[in-house]
Amino acid sequence: MQKLESVQSGFVYMGRLSYNSDLLDSLSEVCRERGVTLGRIEAIGALRGARLGYYDQKSLEYKYLTWDKGLEITSLMGNISIKDGEPMVHAHLTLADEEGRTFGGHLARGCPVFACEFILRVYSGPDFVRSHDTQTGLPLWS
Ligand code: ZN
Repeated sequence: MQKLESVQSGFVYMGRLSYNSDLLDSLSEVCRERGVTLGRIEAIGALRGARLGYYDQKSLEYKYLTWDKGLEITSLMGNISIKDGEPMVHAHLTLADEEGRTFGGHLARGCPVFACEFILRVYSGPDFVRSHDTQTGLPLWS
């Protein structure tokens, strides 16, 4: 076990994002505005297009897949912690197309919202701070 801490549930926010806002930027902005540095986020809705990351474990780089069409957000799940002194939303999502086919990945910038309802659960507890992990190349909790 690399890191294990006890956290306590606090406020829960429910909200809806604006049409055409960027999904990752908007969720990050909510956290910054409300001072949320530890928590959990979930959302459903639809996107006008999508850009998802896939982390290549050999090259230690993200590869990105993009879609320029409407997709359902069947599930978005993520956490909020601290990176470079700011709240960082790390989320993964599953999307569905017009035939119900699903695919998913790491939420990246470039996902314009069609409609999105989210629930943000704020936790209190020790800081979870991300820093560069040499083994994976990822910014992980240290
Ligand atoms: Zn990820």
